[in-house]
Amino acid sequence: MPTEEALERLRAGHKRSKPDACTPATSQDLIRSLASEGQHPFATVITCSDSRVAPEILFHCRLGDIFTIRAAGNVLSDIGMGSLEYAVDHLHTPLILVLGHTGCGTVQSACHPGHHCHPALQALLDKITPAVRKAGGQTDLAEDINIENTMREILAYAPFQAHPEIIFGAKYDIRTSEILYLKSFDSAHQIVTSAWA
Ligand SMILES: [Zn+2]
Repeated sequence: MPTEEALERLRAGHKRSKPDACTPATSQDLIRSLASEGQHPFATVITCSDSRVAPEILFHCRLGDIFTIRAAGNVLSDIGMGSLEYAVDHLHTPLILVLGHTGCGTVQSACHPGHHCHPALQALLDKITPAVRKAGGQTDLAEDINIENTMREILAYAPFQAHPEIIFGAKYDIRTSEILYLKSFDSAHQIVTSAWA
């Protein structure tokens, strides 16, 4: 698709989503109240940039409901961690969810290195490498471990060390649109896996 056509699609889509012309998720009242009273998102979601894993759509949420931090492979950089700190310290979101997914192309790339890439992408893949090693190169398992590694990275960051109870992990299945499990920390700060619902 030519770039100009892609831009036109965004313009047309935004026009259709204008207040009063669409769903309650973007109603004029909601937009007005979010602008005047500020945002109070009830969850912060760290997820992959993958176009099939948009948290606002997957969790059927409205504007203002979810503070979203996205990077390919649902990894956190220092900047991402800063966004997370802002969400919890300033916006007081009571829950952090690391949402990975099946068929993650970024994890797959980390499992099968060899293509030349520039330093920025290499740095991102390097964040996933420990999970790949632990998984013996199996993409599916590496996705699971990568979710846990991001959870542990959050817990290791000073502002969150005393709050393991707000940190969760989950995995979305892009083939069935189901969420496969929920991960959380137990009282000994070990990760336990349970059913999502
Ligand atoms: Zn992905």
